[in-house]
Amino acid sequence: MPPFSSTQLFQTTASHLPPLLRPLSPSAPLSPLPQPKLLRRSLKLPLRVRSLDAAQPYDYEAQLRSHFHESSSLKIAILGFGNFGQFLAKTFLSQGHTILAHSRSDYSAAAADLGVAFYRDPHDLCEQHPEVVLLSTSILSTERVLRSIPFQRLRRSTLFVDVLSVKEFPRDLLLKFLPAEFDVLCTHPMFGPESGRHSWAGLSFVYDRVRIGDDESRVDRCEKFLDIFAREGCRMVEMSCAEHDRHAAGSQFVTHTVGRVLEKFGLESSPINTKGYETLLELVENTSGDSFDLYYGLFLYNDNAMEQLQRLDMAFKSIQNELFGRLHQIYRKQLLGNMEGARESGMTKSMVQKLLSN
Ligand code: NAP
Repeated sequence: MPPFSSTQLFQTTASHLPPLLRPLSPSAPLSPLPQPKLLRRSLKLPLRVRSLDAAQPYDYEAQLRSHFHESSSLKIAILGFGNFGQFLAKTFLSQGHTILAHSRSDYSAAAADLGVAFYRDPHDLCEQHPEVVLLSTSILSTERVLRSIPFQRLRRSTLFVDVLSVKEFPRDLLLKFLPAEFDVLCTHPMFGPESGRHSWAGLSFVYDRVRIGDDESRVDRCEKFLDIFAREGCRMVEMSCAEHDRHAAGSQFVTHTVGRVLEKFGLESSPINTKGYETLLELVENTSGDSFDLYYGLFLYNDNAMEQLQRLDMAFKSIQNELFGRLHQIYRKQLLGNMEGARESGMTKSMVQKLLSN
């Protein structure tokens, strides 16, 4: 076979290319290309993509984007799809993670509304091999729930996370019940559906990497999970479970107790609310949405809670004593006939007697 001329070679090569990759003006006279080197150069230069759809296999950017999404998104199974579980799911979904859920009650409809796959049977959920299993059940039911999980259906390497409002208690249970190959991350988002309704920015997220394997993939998975909260602007606080419980009894348990006391007291808004009073109303609103189980769990499973309750009681009595002490002083002066001293208080004898008998 006679050798191709350079013109023939160009035409043959161009006609074998897909239409969109052919030189732009096939009708234009093709200048003879004396050398193969030049031929290659002229083939490269005039390419132009005319249709994005057709160019998909070459859309490097889209491929990168989807690769990035796959590498940064997690498959998270939420156990306990009540108030707090659903609240967390919304933000997880907004960040592109895949969410599965299981709960004692049937939340199929609520889950479908959110775009969460709900499994009535925990076996079916575990067979989906989530990378992360997040425990958002009540503190009181933790042990029962852990005993009911078919661990054998999960991957050998699964990250277990809890979000319970006490930390030493679930840490001990997770270490006791989970297979040794599972990673354990204990966390406490220090906010809820009320306080974190509009944004999580600036709200504290406490965590303790209780048992995370050295493997790079395990470390990465844990960081990806923590990154969900960091990306929302949370104040990330790494702290041991014991330290958390010490601080939380003095802050969270006291907050919940005062909120509940004020709720029972029956605070009502008035037309002349001060800023301080508005704060109290807000406190009642923030705490009244939480279940009594949650509050009871804070009391029962934080060793420091009882001491805080006693201190609160003592503080209340001490304030009462201070008030009544002064009242008694006036009464004594009135009884001893020191009416000058009693009058300084601006109270009549009958007023003092009425207060004391009350
Ligand atoms: P919760 O009353 O503490 O827990 C409700 C969840 O526990 C529901 O999913 C419920 O399932 C499940 N549950 C209760 N008893 C159960 C049992 N015997 N067996 C199986 N599941 C049971 O209310 P929550 O506000 O949703 O809190 C969930 C977790 O998040 C708690 O551990 C809490 O400490 C923690 N947390 C809450 C907040 C908050 O602001 N709410 C903030 C930080 C952390 P069903 O609904 O299916 O019955």
